[in-house]
Amino acid sequence: MRLGLSEILHTPGASISFSESVDLSDLQFGTCNPVTEPVVISGTVRNTADVLMMKGTITTVIHGVCDRCASDFTQDLEIPVDVVLVEELSNEDSEDEWVFPLEADAANLEEIVRTVFVLNLDSKLLCSPDCKGLCCRCGKNLNDGPCSCEKEIDPRFAALRQLLNK
Ligand SMILES: [Zn+2]
Ligand SMILES: [Zn+2]
Repeated sequence: MRLGLSEILHTPGASISFSESVDLSDLQFGTCNPVTEPVVISGTVRNTADVLMMKGTITTVIHGVCDRCASDFTQDLEIPVDVVLVEELSNEDSEDEWVFPLEADAANLEEIVRTVFVLNLDSKLLCSPDCKGLCCRCGKNLNDGPCSCEKEIDPRFAALRQLLNK
């Protein structure tokens, strides 16, 4: 998916608005592919003093399996995009993950979406940020309420209690 920018490449102040969808269904995360729906990127590329700035938003819905409680969940995702497009990457630029090179005067939208997406995705997929997970003893989903297991006793106290019981 390419966004042609030759019209604004050398015209300070000019801008192009766009809205495209990208397929990231092959993106693997842990053991699942959570991005089964199209990923829409929309925004504007503006030539600001001969620097091309892309600002916009990536939106999609992800269908994941929670890393803590193993339930399926659906989550709306909205990620801001704020990147710089350059005709050629300098050495410094190549270390900056928010700078992308143009390919034949066009932005490679798929590469931008993929990079921004991966950088913004948390290392764990969770049904909610405060998911309580499963009890490690009885396996109950603690989001549905506490289980009846005894609280884990610190092994040092357990040893002490054994001594006292003798
Ligand atoms: Zn969960
Ligand atoms: Zn339990």
